[in-house]
Amino acid sequence: MEHLGQYDLNCDLKNGVNMCCDEESFVKEINTTSIEYAVKVLLMDLGEDINREGIIKTPHRVAKALFEGTRGYKQSAKEIVEGALFPEAGVDSTKVGHAGELVIVRDLEFYSYCESCMLPFYFKCHVGYVPSGQRVLGLSKLSRVTNVFAKRFQEPQRLANEVCSALHQGIEPAGVAVVLQCTHINIPDTESNFFDSNHKGLVETLVSSGSGVFENNDADTWGDVFGLLKVRGIDKDKVHVKRSLDQHWCPSLSSKIGEINPIMITAVSSILKSLGEDPIRKELVGTPSRYAKWLMNFQYCNDIYVKLNGSLRSGVDDSLHTNGEVSFDDKELHSDLNLPFWSQCEHHLLPFHGVVHIGYFIPKGFHPVEKSLLQSIVHFYGFKLQVQERLTKQIAETVSPLLGGNVIVVVEASHTCMISRGIEKFGSNTSTIAVLGRFSTDLAARTSFLESIPNATSL
Ligand SMILES: [Zn+2]
Ligand SMILES: [Zn+2]
Repeated sequence: MEHLGQYDLNCDLKNGVNMCCDEESFVKEINTTSIEYAVKVLLMDLGEDINREGIIKTPHRVAKALFEGTRGYKQSAKEIVEGALFPEAGVDSTKVGHAGELVIVRDLEFYSYCESCMLPFYFKCHVGYVPSGQRVLGLSKLSRVTNVFAKRFQEPQRLANEVCSALHQGIEPAGVAVVLQCTHINIPDTESNFFDSNHKGLVETLVSSGSGVFENNDADTWGDVFGLLKVRGIDKDKVHVKRSLDQHWCPSLSSKIGEINPIMITAVSSILKSLGEDPIRKELVGTPSRYAKWLMNFQYCNDIYVKLNGSLRSGVDDSLHTNGEVSFDDKELHSDLNLPFWSQCEHHLLPFHGVVHIGYFIPKGFHPVEKSLLQSIVHFYGFKLQVQERLTKQIAETVSPLLGGNVIVVVEASHTCMISRGIEKFGSNTSTIAVLGRFSTDLAARTSFLESIPNATSL
């Protein structure tokens, strides 16, 4: 039996990681034991040592985050609405349709858990209603009601429908309009997208739901809503119209699953159950396998290792060792930019992904090292349970002997664990840097490399 309380926050700091630390501040009364057990089973199936310093507290962190992220199952939207209705004499249902009567709150930001793959997704919510019966709702309650349904396993359209219908029943207005802009991390299909640098990091969808005067998608009342959202770049034409069955919002639904260890599937099902979900609900039936498949990407991977080993051996022959005979004046700075990577935060078992930039010197007349070799090294260290600082350092140390010892590595990443803990939005990113050899002392070389990195790196 491990001692979960034995390591405190300092273990994260000692590891050089300060971006993922937990504040031990919530979920005191819930029992996380069964989820922690299931997470340990998953970690062991990935070949991890569950007593390793970096992950010893991971089962506890994952359990807490899941309970926190699905607390909506224990909340009632009805109670929230009932306590917050105010009489407002000026509101008259006979004038429904006038733009002046529409109340709309824009840009509420939330995250939810995708019911298909169990990874968090981020969404922006715009919600409006036309009051009737002289009753209006305290505006903060629109946000609280949305959050009740966000903190469950969801799919965008159902989420929009549930928020809409709860508000409609609670306020009894002339109509409710809900528009959601949802962003899901793209899941690499290691078979097809492995070396595809055009693989987009995020998937977006726009959905809407309406009741009463908004029930009909073509109603004029929607014109007011979209008129007010236009400044946000939201266009009615972009609203997703019921997709055909083979078009999925969650990328995990489009990839083949293959063989998954049944022990992992049972462990994930037990997590869903502990959170109050029904693992045999139609939409959740394949979820444990899909989540397990995602995790398996980060198992110790012989395939890549063999490929990498082969490349390293052949790469060394053409490497840039010059026995010190060539002076720096005869070398020029070379940058390999935007090598994509995917990884999994070992503290929270949530993905982080982004790009790696590598800079080194090439003696005049020499060719740069094959970019595909650098990409294999990046993938090799990415597809593991990781922390960004370690990933950066490992890449630098591995490429250094191939690239003549003077190396700079920058990793830019977007962390789902930060998003789901409300710290950051999708799109914001964390940069880490590792320098070896000349780059550790030559400020001009560092600056010139950093200037070669494009500003608008899209993650
Ligand atoms: Zn993390
Ligand atoms: Zn998903």
